[in-house]
Parts: sequence; C-alpha cells; structure tokens
Amino acid sequence: MEPKQPFDIDVALSRIEEAVRPFPKAALFELAAEGFNAPFQQLIACIISIRTRDEDTLPIARRLLSRAATPAELLELTSTEIEALIEPSSFRAAKAPQMLAIARRLVDDFDGELPCDGQLMQSFAGVGPKCANLTLGIACGTQRISVDVHVHRVTNRWGYIQAATPEQSMMALESVLPPEHWIDINRLLVPFGKHICTGRAPRCSTCPMLEMCRQVGVTTHR
Ligand code: SF4
Repeated sequence: MEPKQPFDIDVALSRIEEAVRPFPKAALFELAAEGFNAPFQQLIACIISIRTRDEDTLPIARRLLSRAATPAELLELTSTEIEALIEPSSFRAAKAPQMLAIARRLVDDFDGELPCDGQLMQSFAGVGPKCANLTLGIACGTQRISVDVHVHRVTNRWGYIQAATPEQSMMALESVLPPEHWIDINRLLVPFGKHICTGRAPRCSTCPMLEMCRQVGVTTHR
C-alpha cells in the first residue's frame, strides 16, 4: 500500500486526544493525576503494570502506594506482605523482592528518594527502558518515549514508522517524533490502542485516523 503523505503528527494526536476523551486514562497517568506522581511511586506502579492489565494495575498500585508511599515505608513490609498486596499482578513473587531491593538501595544510597536518573532505574532488576522512560516522563518531566504494545502497534499501522519490536519502535520514534510529543504519545496511544485501534479487528470504519492511516498489516477490521 502506498504511503498516505504527508503524515501530520500534530493533526493525528489532536484527533486522538478527542477520540480517547471518553475512555479511562492509562493507569500510570491516572495515578499521577491522583497524586502518586513521585518517581519512586511511578516506578513501583510501572513494575506492577508489567504483564498486568491496566484495569488491575490501577487498584493494585493504589492499594500498595497507600500503604507504602516511600522506600522507607515499603521496607516496613515483608516480601510476602507485598506479594499479597499486589495480587493479581503477574509475576508478583518476583516483583515483591525486586521492589524491596530497590527500596533498600534508595534508603541506603540515595537518602530514601529515587533520583531522576534513567541509568540508575535500569540498573534495578525488573526495570527496563519502558518503565524507566515512563517514570522519567511522568514524574520527572523529562521528555522520553515509552513504547508499549499499543504505541508499537498503532504507529506501525499508521505507517509512521516501520519497526519489528517495541524496542525498535522506540528508536524509530526518537528519530521522527517531535520531542514535545514524547510523553503524550504514550498517554494518548495506550487508550487509543485499547479501545479503537485494537489488536484484533480495529475499529477503522469509525476511526478519526482513517484518511491518514495506511492500515499496515490490518487484514480484518470493524
Ligand atoms: S484506521 Fe484502523 S488501523 Fe488505522 S489507526 Fe484507525 S483503527 Fe487503527
């Protein structure tokens, strides 16, 4: 299929802003809006979110962060207690000790605060580029692109980038997406990907992006 040119990302994102208005915010953005916006809180919420549905992530993160909002407070809990608090998050038996190890390091070496340092974040077991970038973007105001399955799928369907994996999409987006959209791309495309440009049978017939989108790889749609 030939590209539909030019692809105006400003127009695209303003259309998507309108389209996702009726839907819940992505979990980490909703938590930040509720006041859980410290780097440590965002990083812990992101760890909870790994392989876990947004609908589950939100109440789990509220439950844990209401009980332990700081590294020092988290260290008052045992791994077993954390595991129980974050049920039904996937891989909670691994996540609980990872969270405790992060809290211990922050209390011992960083005065109990998580600095806005992506390299430090990625040095923690269980933290990859996605969670580091989301934390930097949401809690630190640093312009970073966090690419999850939704951002990866949608931007490739548009034909805006061509990349095989979320990691490759992150690099491709860093070269074409204007920095002012680096945080918003995740905020907007997570609900857009969950409710409109869905993995199976996207809702193309009513999608505000239809005239701009190459629908790359879309074989069936609604
Ligand atoms: S037109 Fe279809 S494939 Fe393109 S963004 Fe909209 S829902 Fe997704």
